Amino acid sequence: MSKDIILTGLRANNEFTLGNYLGAIKPMLDLSKKAGEYQINMFLPDLHTITVEVDYNTLYSHIIHCLKQYVAAGLDISNQDIFIYRQSYIPAHSELAWIIECFTGFGEASRMVEFKDKSNQIGTDRVSAGLFNYPMLMAADILLYGAKWVPVGDDQRQHIELTRTIADRFNKKFGDIFVVPEETKNQAKFAGLESPLRIRSLRNPDKKMSKSINDPNGTILLTDKPEEAAKKVISATTDSVGKINFNWEKQPGISNLIQILALISDSSIQEVTQQWAGQSSYGNLKSAVASAVSEELSKVQSNLLNVDDNELMAKLQASEQAMETVASAQLLKVQQAVGLRPKL
Ligand code: AMP
Repeated sequence: MSKDIILTGLRANNEFTLGNYLGAIKPMLDLSKKAGEYQINMFLPDLHTITVEVDYNTLYSHIIHCLKQYVAAGLDISNQDIFIYRQSYIPAHSELAWIIECFTGFGEASRMVEFKDKSNQIGTDRVSAGLFNYPMLMAADILLYGAKWVPVGDDQRQHIELTRTIADRFNKKFGDIFVVPEETKNQAKFAGLESPLRIRSLRNPDKKMSKSINDPNGTILLTDKPEEAAKKVISATTDSVGKINFNWEKQPGISNLIQILALISDSSIQEVTQQWAGQSSYGNLKSAVASAVSEELSKVQSNLLNVDDNELMAKLQASEQAMETVASAQLLKVQQAVGLRPKL
């Protein structure tokens, strides 16, 4: 019997943030320890990357750098059950996305909050049609491989639900075409979490930590100097409550620090909260989080220096070849179902 697939991807826009690392990379790496039992698809969505403006001159080398970051963070590329690939190297992603777009309502796609937010930020003339189509391409990324498990951050919750709706729609219309991925609440549980993660900005803890907004002091990048990252934690926005509680509504800044510490130290939120409850000053908690973050960054950064480029390229090419075969077969199944290819 073939193995269940766990799939995730991270765009190569800017450097990865601590939000990407704790919200997507680390959960995926924890799950990748289950390789053997599961197949792991960790891909680089380079087509998603260009839905917003990037530095086109350096994009190619930046994509390779981001792939190296997967390895530096702990992805074991010698494992035969782990596949690491670039989306644009497998044309079936774009082709299936087009077909999916033709089966998605305009209104349905217009309800995606991530697009609405970006569109409000930069205006409808500057926001790309590619960004509007992003969730349908993401559905193709998942449905091409029959991935049941897609551990992503909270910002992608709505896109996963859309993917499930689209897969159901096809299956009802055409028979057994797609594996329907699990609901987001089950995805989180599978990754050992209570709910999908949202790491907040250190400066604006009501917002997510994001590489695309202009918030350098609220955002920690994996490439930040560890001592600079520590300083950002020390000057994180908190509150005047004067007690350490885990409460997103009343104390989002403190809750964010507790969450970061719990994730880095592989402890639960409850354990960390209990450990710190009763302290009236926030300074010690901030120092503990600052050390944990700077140690984690030091570890990833020193691993990055040791990634073997040749080994990575060989793994990429082998994975892309293998995934091309799987994706083309699934695309053909869909093309046959909708009448673009003869049914054999
Ligand atoms: P992106 O950087 O938008 O390509 O996102 C890549 C992955 O990182 C997705 O699974 C996101 O859900 C996750 N992610 C991005 N930012 C955060 C954040 N602040 N907290 C948790 N997960 C995040």
